[in-house]
Amino acid sequence: MPKELAPRYDPSELEERWYREWEEAGVFTPPPQPASPRGKFVVVIPPPNLTGSLHMGHALNNMIQDICVRQRRMAGFDTLWLPGTDHASIAVHTVLERALAEEGLTRRGLGREEFLRRAWAWREKYGDTIIHQLKRLGCSCDWTRLRFTMDPALSRAVGEVFVRYWEDGLLYRGLRMVNWCPRCRTAVSDLEVRHEETDGMLWYVRYPAAGDGEGVVVATTRPETMLGDTAVAVNPADERYKDAVGSRVILPLVGRELPVIADDAVDPAFGTGAVKITPAHDADDYEIAQRHELPALVVIDEDGRMTDEVPAKYRGLSREECREAVLKDLQIEGFLEATKAYRVPLAVCDRCKTVVEPYLSRQWFVKQAELAKPAREAVARGDVKFIPERWTKVYFDWMDNVHDWCVSRQLWWGHRIPAWFCDECGEFVVAREAPTRCACGSEKLRQDEDVLDTWFSSALWPFSTMGWPEDTPDMKSYYPTDLLCTAPDIIFLWVARMIFSALKFTGRVPFHTVYFHPMIQTAEGKRMSKSLGTGVDPLTLIERHGADATRYTLTALCTQSQSFRLSEERFDLGRNLTNKIWNAARFLLPYVELAEDEGVPPAAELELADRWVLSRLERARADAQRAFDEMRFNDYAQTLYQFFWGEYCDWYLEAIKPRLYGKAPGGDAAARVARHVFDVLLRMFHPIMPFVTEELYRMFAPGRGFCARAPWPEAAAERLDAEAEERIGALFDVIRGVRNVRAEMNVPPASVVDIVIAAEEAGRGAAVAEELRPFFELARISSASTLAAGKRPAHAAAAVGGDMTVFVPLEGLIDFDVEMKRLARARQKTEGDIAALSRKLSDENFVKKAPADVVAADADRLETLKATSARLAENLAALE
Ligand SMILES: [Zn+2]
Ligand SMILES: [Zn+2]
Repeated sequence: MPKELAPRYDPSELEERWYREWEEAGVFTPPPQPASPRGKFVVVIPPPNLTGSLHMGHALNNMIQDICVRQRRMAGFDTLWLPGTDHASIAVHTVLERALAEEGLTRRGLGREEFLRRAWAWREKYGDTIIHQLKRLGCSCDWTRLRFTMDPALSRAVGEVFVRYWEDGLLYRGLRMVNWCPRCRTAVSDLEVRHEETDGMLWYVRYPAAGDGEGVVVATTRPETMLGDTAVAVNPADERYKDAVGSRVILPLVGRELPVIADDAVDPAFGTGAVKITPAHDADDYEIAQRHELPALVVIDEDGRMTDEVPAKYRGLSREECREAVLKDLQIEGFLEATKAYRVPLAVCDRCKTVVEPYLSRQWFVKQAELAKPAREAVARGDVKFIPERWTKVYFDWMDNVHDWCVSRQLWWGHRIPAWFCDECGEFVVAREAPTRCACGSEKLRQDEDVLDTWFSSALWPFSTMGWPEDTPDMKSYYPTDLLCTAPDIIFLWVARMIFSALKFTGRVPFHTVYFHPMIQTAEGKRMSKSLGTGVDPLTLIERHGADATRYTLTALCTQSQSFRLSEERFDLGRNLTNKIWNAARFLLPYVELAEDEGVPPAAELELADRWVLSRLERARADAQRAFDEMRFNDYAQTLYQFFWGEYCDWYLEAIKPRLYGKAPGGDAAARVARHVFDVLLRMFHPIMPFVTEELYRMFAPGRGFCARAPWPEAAAERLDAEAEERIGALFDVIRGVRNVRAEMNVPPASVVDIVIAAEEAGRGAAVAEELRPFFELARISSASTLAAGKRPAHAAAAVGGDMTVFVPLEGLIDFDVEMKRLARARQKTEGDIAALSRKLSDENFVKKAPADVVAADADRLETLKATSARLAENLAALE
């Protein structure tokens, strides 16, 4: 006897149990050497930050990977999903330095060694939080291969790459303008800076002439930087300043003489057309200074405070304090000519939102342009395919205009730069191992204090995780990978760099397909953010509805659009579906013979409904498979849902009840077909809803192994049966028609009806009446008789279906007087609504002013009301 299923589906118990069983049985671990004739399928997880905890974006991203991986595993591929975490340099610093501040300590006060000790301790304690959360979600990663970007082997790969870039002339150390975050106290890359417009001011300051004349008025949004000015510039074509060019002016508050120069980069339309040049604190000014050989004075330091290069009274002030002081002094001394409101473009640190300071410093740079070329070609050739395709253009645009990448960060947690400076000669050595001696003979070598940008190691992730630069078994067997699944916002930071790094160091693309998933927004269309409190928490959802329900809903919403909106109510969809699957299984279990082979019975034993459901299953399977292959996950989920709920449960299971209950012959065949269809559905739902499907699959046949490794349903084109679909389609039209009549005429649910079928074609009515017999219960029909076409029984409502008319005689079923009054009232009200809406729609004013979609919706409603009125009139006529 089959085991009984609990009346209510309880996800928490079975999700935990199955995840443990999968892991213990090694279901997620592929063989060391792929041997499957289907080949291999490999995905490397986008490593979540060590500091991370699962948010909706992670949930979606990892669930999609899991869906793909689970499907390939069932389809017979040797499947590897390799997990790991990222050391997340800046994020860890933010967390730890905040904790230090609470103890009244600072990073520098603590020292490098102690800080790193704390960082490792922190990782030990909290670093795996997100890994456990991925397990809750059901992710089928091979945890025996768990990696971390700072594992010794992966760190070795980072060092190797740095040295090879150096040896190949793709890496240099240079004095360059970088984005400096004074709060994070490190350089940040262009991609880690967010540009915002804020309400600011434009100040007009007079720089008096050094000799005769009026001097020049410059406009600036950052008066504090004037202390570092080394010139004033105008556009050479600007007639207003023709005479000023070549003269000298005096820098107010400082007294330094500045040349007035002409440069094409100056926009004559900005402010007065004359701008101050602060080479060390503005990227454009730096360019101009290079062309005119102007000195660069660093007046703001790494903490955002004024340096000793400024007059004593401003030294040590913060940028903000200094601005106040400078403005006050300019006012007092009469240099401030005007102040205007101005929209100021601000660059802020993506991590901490502090205004980024353009800062001239010595940093390490990777020449990306050269590396980008083959990476661009690989995508152009189709070696790497982007889905959706539109991201290809975004990628090309960036690759065509790529700049050098500043890879050094003034942080400690991360991969320390393998370069050693000599205290004697001032030169440096780049090396794989710490050198003992400089070329000059000195032994006074100090390693660079800085670490590498976290993305430097992330760029190597697809092959560093496999053991590169060693030629490991995994490098041989499981590299390159097949699929990368990512959010589109890191296409440059990460995707592009992985492609060029892999091509450079392994000679192969790191993956063949990149799937960019949509961004999840709140119900109001805002960005989901834990800190803003505008998110839906996936762990709460899993707690409340189960992982399967959470996953189903996310999949059903996952279109190939840019984004989708999410509110917690949407998860009812997934919860209702898991309950429905559970209940279908409970219904079926008693009829399923465990000993019986799950195969479909021979054609001779199949009845029309069986042939129909098998044909519909094959169509749904084929549609779903196509959607899956094209990575239209929402279509995949919805196709399965519609077939399962709308056809299998609502029609087929209802239709075979008399057979299963022994009231009609063919019960065994019905049970076997029902079970076969359910089994295929469980397997196809499994990648989306792994837990409930595993439970039920095993419940139906405990001996046959995991659903997670069950064979993927193959095409069964021989089951397609257009004739059965058409015939059943006609019968279901009749059932629907009779159900409608029952509803519209208020026929009590307990009453049975005798229907009359009138068809043009001779014998058609009788044939339909016969075929309909097994489905009578679906509309509480007790008998079906026939009538010549064109005739109509008395007091009967018509249910129209295709090439025949089906009548439901109502005598004895309802009280005609009461029903006629009700119908008449309903019709009167509908006519009233039609009149009102017609008036509204013929009002030119309304049609002109209202939004087009409102007008269209009203027009649709009018059509519906007219159809309702016509049907009410017909129903009335039937009773008269
Ligand atoms: Zn910052
Ligand atoms: Zn030396």
